[in-house]
This record gives sequence, structure tokens and C-alpha cells, in this order.
Amino acid sequence: MKGDMQSWTPNIAGIIEHANKVFPDVEVVSKLVSGETHRTNYGEVCIRSRKLASALEKNGYKEGDILATLALNSYRHLEIYYGVSGMGAVNHTLNFRLHPDQAVYIINHAEDKIIFCELPFVPLLESLQDQLHSVEKFIILCEKDELPESSLKNTISYEEFIEDGDEDYSWPQLQDDAACGLCYTSGTTGDPKGVLYSHKSTVLHSMTAAMPVALDINRKDSILMVVPMFHVMAWGLPYFAPMNGIKIVMPGMQMDGPSLYNQIENENITMAFGVPTIWMQLLGHCRENNLKLNSLNKTLVGGAAVPVSMIREFDEEHDVTLVQGWGMTEMSPLGTTNIITDEMLSMPKEERYLLQAKAGRPIYGVEIDIRDEEGNSLPHDGEAYGNLVVRGPWILQRYFKADHDAVDENGWFDTGDISSIDKDGYMAIVDRAKDVIKSGGEWISSIDLENATVGHPEIAEACVVGLPHPKWDERPMLFVVTNTGNDIEKQSILDFLNDKVAKWWLPDEIIFLKELPHGATGKLQKFELRKEYNNHYMEK
Ligand code: AMP
Repeated sequence: MKGDMQSWTPNIAGIIEHANKVFPDVEVVSKLVSGETHRTNYGEVCIRSRKLASALEKNGYKEGDILATLALNSYRHLEIYYGVSGMGAVNHTLNFRLHPDQAVYIINHAEDKIIFCELPFVPLLESLQDQLHSVEKFIILCEKDELPESSLKNTISYEEFIEDGDEDYSWPQLQDDAACGLCYTSGTTGDPKGVLYSHKSTVLHSMTAAMPVALDINRKDSILMVVPMFHVMAWGLPYFAPMNGIKIVMPGMQMDGPSLYNQIENENITMAFGVPTIWMQLLGHCRENNLKLNSLNKTLVGGAAVPVSMIREFDEEHDVTLVQGWGMTEMSPLGTTNIITDEMLSMPKEERYLLQAKAGRPIYGVEIDIRDEEGNSLPHDGEAYGNLVVRGPWILQRYFKADHDAVDENGWFDTGDISSIDKDGYMAIVDRAKDVIKSGGEWISSIDLENATVGHPEIAEACVVGLPHPKWDERPMLFVVTNTGNDIEKQSILDFLNDKVAKWWLPDEIIFLKELPHGATGKLQKFELRKEYNNHYMEK
């Protein structure tokens, strides 16, 4: 029997329309390429998204067209999120830190018709345009009089493009499950793969993310969106912030410690979203200059493992709660979050920090489980660990243009992460399946070893990789960046680790580097180090 309620097919443009009606004056603040601060609000973002949608239609673009952005976090990028998806086209956010070959592959694979391009990335597109087979138009995110001399064919400034758009444009009624956005995975192994989000999956993800038990966001928050808008749709923030009338502040190009600190203080930021490497820079800046984070209450940190030392420093030095989130491009991205509960607040601090270092519990809608190599479910006892599998309404079914599903017969998607789940439902990432170190038949978690190492007062960052070893199959090698950039006694690191990890986990070799290789979304690029040092133990 069918229910008697109204049927509803979401269009994410409904989110910005809602913000326009209920929170029109809430600010959207962007640091522009010029360094100036630009201020607008949800009311204006809504009107300009309508103009963009209308201008796209007038120029012949239609439902299902894939239109890309190569853009920073800014109000124009936010308008594109709504204008493009709202008129039924697909908002494909390109990662501007990608290797040019990968960018070409992705643009051609997606068959992008337009690229909305931020001024600093025009030279990159100029160098690639001959290899781009589908792109018809480049819309440069600037004023008419800022449009640069360029060899790009068919360019127009964003402001000129939307000039003739109709501000009373009405959004189309879309099909159930219509596509709204496209992101590609980082592709450290093999070609990048596309994940095509739908209006329904995006709206459901945003509504759940907005639940207090998920991210603990609040109407009164001002959020600093450091996570790039190309990284899994900035974790959903561009949708759930307007849904909840929350002010968004965007850092533009300036993501160094001092710039972030100034923006947090000047804009009264209460919550900030980003990957751990960003917060290392911010904390380092505060430490060196004896500064406190005054307005900030919480940081939402995800995308890579979070060290306990970071949780402790935020709490003890700045009274800031670090909320960890875990997810992936294939999951829109949120899977688990770790908000502070009353039980946690009653724990001894160090015990609480250890719990906060776990990836957290699934948000409503997401199911998680761990499996052994044969696919059997493992106990949720906090000890057993295995392949983490997930399913839910904002998790992919198949990759874009693939000819087969990416899930098993029961709908479970294998994340490629190795995890444990405890009796209270807290999931902890042990490692990426490809990074776990297999030494003499036993497993060493590279993440645990890294996290233990960065607790050393003289170490800023650490990376552990397993390298082939003649006797043990693989043994760990530790790469460190010290606070000063100078080498320190290796023995002091081993002594420090001695009571924190099992003896046989201790790295066989420690190498000092000036910096570690990071990928486009702040993840350590272990394969770079593995490639360079691969034969180190074999040749000894
Ligand atoms: P991406 O699709 O680029 O967002 O990458 C997703 C992957 O990032 C996950 O499968 C994890 O390996 C890693 N990741 C995300 N969040 C966390 C976290 N909180 N702790 C450890 N690893 C994480």
C-alpha cells in the first residue's frame, strides 16, 4: 500500500531558495585572488545563481551537460554549485592541484563542455587546451574588465556571462535521481574514477550532516571552509551551511598559518573545516607567536588520520574541540563523525583524546561493517580489524561510465580502509589496505606509528612506509620533518616510541626530510617515498 503523502523530487536549488527566504542576510565572505575581502549573502547568492542558470539555458546548455569548475573557494564558485546543478546540468569540480596529465584525462573522460576558471589557472588551461576534446567555452571568474589577454578560445568573464540572465528564473522539476555533481577520486593507483552524485543523495547527505549528532553545527556558527570546494563538494558544507543559515567564510589562495589565524579572529569563526596538514600550520603559527584562538570552538578534521597530539594541543592550548570525520569521495563524503558526548567529558582527558582519535560513529543512514579476506563479518570488539565496508543512500553504486557495479550483491562497498569497530560503534582506521605493513606475517599500522611519532616534541610531521625486506617481507621506514628542519638524534625518536608501540614495530630506518610529499587533498603520497627507497632494505 502506498502512503498518502506528497511525492517530492529534490532539486538542490531548493536549498539556496530556502536560504533566500529564511536567511537572506547571512553573510558569505570570500578572500579574493586579489587579496581583498568580498562580502555577499545568501539572498544575493540565490539571485545570481538564478541568473547563471538562466544564462546557461540561453546559451543552449541543458539538463545532463557536464560543466566543470577549476576554482578556489569563493562566492562565485558557490553560485555555480547552485546555478549549474539547479538547472539540471552537472557541477564537476576539478582539482587544480592535479598533475596536468590527470586533469586532461578527467576533463576528457567527463566530457566537460564548459570550464569555469579562476584567474590564476588560466595559464594551465592555455597549456592544455589543445588536448581537451569536449570543452566549448571558458568562463573566467572575474569582472568584465579583468578578463586577461589569453590564447584560450571562446572565453568570457563570468560577470558578463550572467549579465543577461533572468533573476526571476524558475528552476526545473528534475527526474528522481537526476545527477547534480561529479568528483573524481585522487587515483593514486590507476586512472582517477568519477563519482556522480544525485540531487537526492546530496540533499539527504546534507540533511543528515546538519543533525546535531552528526557534526554538531548550529545556526549561530560561522564556519571557515578551508576544505577545497573540489574535494568531495567541500564535504557538503556549501549545501548544509545555507540550509541552516550558517555564515561561510572562504580563505581563497591564502591557507598558510598566519592568514588562517587572521581570518579566524577577524571573522569571529566558531568552527573550521579542513585536513590535518592545514591545522598543523595553524597550530605551529600560534605556538611560535604565542597566540590563542579566541573565537574558535570546534574544528572538523578529516581526509587523513588525526594525531592525538593535535587533539591535545587544540584542547589544552586553545580550548578548541577537534571533531574527527571520516569518509570518502565515494560517500559524498560523510560516513562517521566523532562529536563530543557527555560520557567523553566525564573521562580523564588522555582517555578522551584517545577516543577522539578514532574516526567516530556512523551518521544516520550509513551502515558500516568489517570483513576478513573471505568476506566474513568480524566482531565489533575494538580489537579485530579488517576490510571496512559501507552502504547507504549517499554511497556510490557504480563509478561514472563504468559497466559494472562497485558494490557486492548485498550493496556493500569496500572502502579500501582497514578498520576496527568497538562495542559502542566507534570505528578506528588502522590503515589504508595498501599502506598496512606486513612484517613476518603480522601487521603494523603505519598510521599508529606516525601518530605516535608526531607526539615527539621536536617532530612536526611523520610518514611511515613498509619496504620490501629479505627476512621479514616488509619492514617500516620512518620519514620525519622536525620543527626546526634540522636533524635530531635518531635514538631520541626510538626512545620516545619505545613505550608507545610494540618493540617489533620500531622502524628499522629513520630519514630526515625538509618536507613530506602531499597530494592535492593533503594526503601523504606514500608511493613517492616507496618508489624512491624501495630497495633500501634489500640492498643492505
Ligand atoms: P578521498 O576520497 O580523497 O576523500 O579519500 C578518502 C580516504 O581518506 C579514506 O578512504 C581514508 O583512507 C582517508 N581518510 C578520510 N578521513 C580519514 C580519517 N578521519 N582518518 C584516517 N583516514 C581518513
